[in-house]
Amino acid sequence: MPAASLHSLFTIDRFLGLFCLILTTPGFAQDVVLRSDQLQHWYRGNMHTHSLWSDGDDYPEMIATWYREHGYQFLVFTDHNTLHNQEMWIDVEKSKGGLQAFRKLTDAFPTDWIQTRETAGRTEVRLKEFDAVYERLATAQEYILIQGEEITDTFKRQPVHLCATNTRELLPPTGGDSIVDVIQRNIEAAVSRRERTGEATLVHLNHPNFGYAITAEHLMQIVGEKFFEVYNGHPSVQNSGDATHASTERQWDIVNTWRLAKLQLPVMYGLATDDGHDYFQVEPHQGAQPGRGWVMVLSDTLTPDALVMALEAGRFYSSSGVTLAEIHQTSKCLRVTVAAEPGVSYRIDFIGTHTGFNDVSLPAITEPENVDRVTRCYSADVGKVFKSVEGTVGSYTFEGTELYVRAVVTASRKHPNPSQIGDFECAWVQPVVVSNTVPGR
Ligand SMILES: [Zn+2]
Ligand SMILES: [Zn+2]
Repeated sequence: MPAASLHSLFTIDRFLGLFCLILTTPGFAQDVVLRSDQLQHWYRGNMHTHSLWSDGDDYPEMIATWYREHGYQFLVFTDHNTLHNQEMWIDVEKSKGGLQAFRKLTDAFPTDWIQTRETAGRTEVRLKEFDAVYERLATAQEYILIQGEEITDTFKRQPVHLCATNTRELLPPTGGDSIVDVIQRNIEAAVSRRERTGEATLVHLNHPNFGYAITAEHLMQIVGEKFFEVYNGHPSVQNSGDATHASTERQWDIVNTWRLAKLQLPVMYGLATDDGHDYFQVEPHQGAQPGRGWVMVLSDTLTPDALVMALEAGRFYSSSGVTLAEIHQTSKCLRVTVAAEPGVSYRIDFIGTHTGFNDVSLPAITEPENVDRVTRCYSADVGKVFKSVEGTVGSYTFEGTELYVRAVVTASRKHPNPSQIGDFECAWVQPVVVSNTVPGR
């Protein structure tokens, strides 16, 4: 990415705004309490959703209804290289959802809502555009829909996918000369568009372990956005890695250690999303079902711009089942309070890396031609568990030499509908930068 383009983001106004934000937002070790009160609320949302507009198997109004009825306050549609903003007809029977999806649609919505036509003896149905679905299903300050897109790119047949949240113009994939170049060019295109339109579009990198395409070494270099999916509910994305490949959580620690200690880049945040495609599976674990991973965003209002600003300020946590009552950080400590459920116990792990860590790393595989395609093996100093607390409140006092500290809460209860069998319900608290010596925070 040309440096000038990024720097031009920071006009004086924006710089001043950013400066104020830094003084009052998480991500830095200072006194910040994330808790619902009269002024701000937690809003639950899914930021990665597919529908019949691409390769999901249900109609957008049915999906929006599902999320509304399951306790969400916002939903971002992110179909592959597609916005819901044009006339689109699909064959009722041949569509991915087939007659099953159509029958459910006709059961749920009146006939004057559903538009069909006959073409060459086939029945087609028109997909509803975003604005129509919004008007029908959104309620101000209760539940909103956000137009987004999964920018679906590749490099040498390896998938490079980024979700753009809150965009009204299509961002076509840019391609590029390497994995990092593809990611960076797509981000640059989104940043440029954001500068031009003023639309608060948030870009995040999806499922790094899908096809094991993206390594921690790729991710740590990314400039201009600071979100990736630490949890993605699709069963093919290998959040946990394998014997050779680092898990997404391990990558998160490697990435943040290097960004803070070596690369003078901001800390990266971890999102949980569904990546829902399959809305008719009834057995747990089968397919990419909705409701597996989400974000809880603390905001004073429920609008796309406010949610994006809160996310960018780190005022959120990610979850696959655990609800938090409060995240309290001061210059001295990080404290996490769980909104405990009866019969469930919790472990709170505080994880980070100290300055002066052992920075030696080794290739994870021996074949020289593929050595850059697998995250390297790093020392146990990187992403170390500093403290574990059994209970519903956990606090970690900073020693002052940590680059960052984050927390993960793991429930004793297994995820009721996991993408990976055996997953427990979790919450991921975003990293807090601790050491005052870290440049480029
Ligand atoms: Zn994807
Ligand atoms: Zn997806």
